Amino acid sequence: MATAGGYLRNPIRQAGATCAVCTTPVAGFRYCFSCNAHRVHAGLADAVAPLTYAIGHRQSGYLMRGYKARPPIEEHRRIVAMLLLLGLSAHARCAGALLGVTVTHWTTVPSLPARPGEHPLHRLAKGTAPGREIPLIASPKVPDPRAVDPDHFIAETTLPRGSHVLVMEDTWARGGHAQSAALALRKAGADRISVLVVARWINEDFADNRRFVNDLADRDFDPLICPWTGAVCPDI
Ligand SMILES: [Zn+2]
Ligand SMILES: [Zn+2]
Repeated sequence: MATAGGYLRNPIRQAGATCAVCTTPVAGFRYCFSCNAHRVHAGLADAVAPLTYAIGHRQSGYLMRGYKARPPIEEHRRIVAMLLLLGLSAHARCAGALLGVTVTHWTTVPSLPARPGEHPLHRLAKGTAPGREIPLIASPKVPDPRAVDPDHFIAETTLPRGSHVLVMEDTWARGGHAQSAALALRKAGADRISVLVVARWINEDFADNRRFVNDLADRDFDPLICPWTGAVCPDI
């Protein structure tokens, strides 16, 4: 992480300062505009944990674009792989501790619209993710990929009772993809759903975001800060 530690930051969890779901800056609210709008849907993810922020036009933003460029930027791919590996090895069990059931299954959110070939995050997750895979397939016709809709994805199998699915997503902008995946997994029988996000996308030009980003400047990335709590890990 030596090369990335300089520009990656741990997400901040602070009531009224950042969204309780996705950790984007908010002005005194519990949820950001998008997460609040999603709340009309029953069955959203029980917990969401970004590992870092990706800031547009900064190195962290280029990182999340470059790792899945075709062909990928190798250094970026390595850094994202390391972030995910650290996040899973140190904090996958924290999702189980938080929700009271150990993770039983994992999946990654497919691209929308569907793209041929293996998703770059799937390639990084498959050796390390806990439990069994429950593959998701992108629906062939999705008129509005940003909307939250359980029919955007189809689970390949149904899940046994008591399942806890760890969903992995590379970049969370408004969260529609990950929450649609959560709803599709509910339809497949998931009891608990945690979403581990590599990076919460931040647009510096929006509202007071530039000040928020500048205030992060002296906070070096610490992989031991729990992405589910923003502080110490929950007791296991
Ligand atoms: Zn949010
Ligand atoms: Zn943890």
